[in-house]
Amino acid sequence: MLVVMDVSATPQQIEQVVKVIESRECTARPIPGGDRVSIGVLNNKGPVDASMFIGLPGVKDAVPITKPYKLVSRETKTGDTLIQVGEVTIGNGHLTIIAGPCAIESETQAMTIAGYVKKAGAHLFRGGAFKPRTSPYSFQGLGEEGLKILAKVREKTGMPVVTEVMDFPTFDLVEHYADVLQIGTRNMQNFSLLKRAGESYRPILLKRGMAATIEEWLMAAEYIMAQGNHQVILCERGVRTFVHHSRNTLDLSAVPVVRKESHLPIIVDPSHAAGRRDQVLPLSRAAVAANAHGLMVEVHHQPEKALSDGAQSLYPDQFDILCRQVTDIFAVSGGQEPF
Ligand code: PEP
Ligand code: MN
Repeated sequence: MLVVMDVSATPQQIEQVVKVIESRECTARPIPGGDRVSIGVLNNKGPVDASMFIGLPGVKDAVPITKPYKLVSRETKTGDTLIQVGEVTIGNGHLTIIAGPCAIESETQAMTIAGYVKKAGAHLFRGGAFKPRTSPYSFQGLGEEGLKILAKVREKTGMPVVTEVMDFPTFDLVEHYADVLQIGTRNMQNFSLLKRAGESYRPILLKRGMAATIEEWLMAAEYIMAQGNHQVILCERGVRTFVHHSRNTLDLSAVPVVRKESHLPIIVDPSHAAGRRDQVLPLSRAAVAANAHGLMVEVHHQPEKALSDGAQSLYPDQFDILCRQVTDIFAVSGGQEPF
C-alpha cells in the first residue's frame, strides 16, 4: 500500500499517518517526492485496508501495490496450470474446444449434436441440464434427466461433458454426473457456491460475471482455490455494455491480462458474448489469435427449434469451418509467448 499525501499536507498530518501504520505493526517508509510525500506501508502480514487512510487529514489517496489474490497469481505459481479431463489436457500448449447445445432438450437432440461436434474436432461436449433463465416461464432445463443424457453422450462418444451447476441443493447431483462443473456468469459471486466448488473433486469452469472486473473474477477463482480445489478454468463470456449490436461485449483484452496475472487456463465463450451466430466465427478466430487456451461454442442442428439460445447457436457445418480455421490460427499463435 502506498499512502499519497496532499501537496499541502503538514508534517503533523504525515506523522499521524505514520502512527496509524505503526499501530498496525507495519513499517512506515515516507518517500519525499517533488511536491508531495508518499508513505509506503511495509512488512504487512496480510492485506492492508485502504479505508484506514482515506479520510485522514492530508491524505489524497491510498493505492494498493500488491494484488489481493494469492493462489491464482503467478507470484505464487509461475508455471502454467494444466488441467486434465479424461484424456483432454486444458492449458498452455493446447487448444481445447468445448461445444454443444445451450440446453439438453432430448436424448436424440444431444446425441445428434454430439456426433456432429465430435466429428468436427470438439474435445468436450457441453449442454445445460439446469438452466439459469432470465424469465421463470422459459425452459428451465431437463434437470437430472438432462444429466443422464449427458452421461450417455460421454459413454457413446468418449467426450467428457461440461454442464452448469446452479445452486447448492443440486451440487452433489451435478458433480456426480459431469466431468467439468460450470459456474455461470450470474453466480460468479455466489460465495457459498464457490466454496462448495472449492471442495469438489471436479474441475470448475468459472465464467466471468457480466459486470465483474478481472480482479473480482480472479477473487472468485481464489475462493475456489482457497478451499483446496486448484482445478479452475476461467471463461471470458462478454460483459454488459451499452451496445445493441451484440448481446454482450467480448472483452478479449481479458485474455492477455489473465494470462499475465494468473497461471490458470483461460478460454473464451464467443456465443454468449455475441448472442448472434454471425459474430461467433470472427470472435473465435480473434480469441485464439489472442492466445486463449480454448473456446466454448454453442452448436445446434436445428437452431430455429432450439429451446434456448438458438440465435447464437452455430449450424454443424459452420462449426466445422470454425474448428478448421481456429486450428490453423493456433498453429501460428499457439506456440508464441503472449507477453
Ligand atoms: C451457458 O453457458 O449456458 C450460460 C448460461 O452462460 P453464461 O452463464 O455465460 O450466461
Ligand atoms: Mn446458452
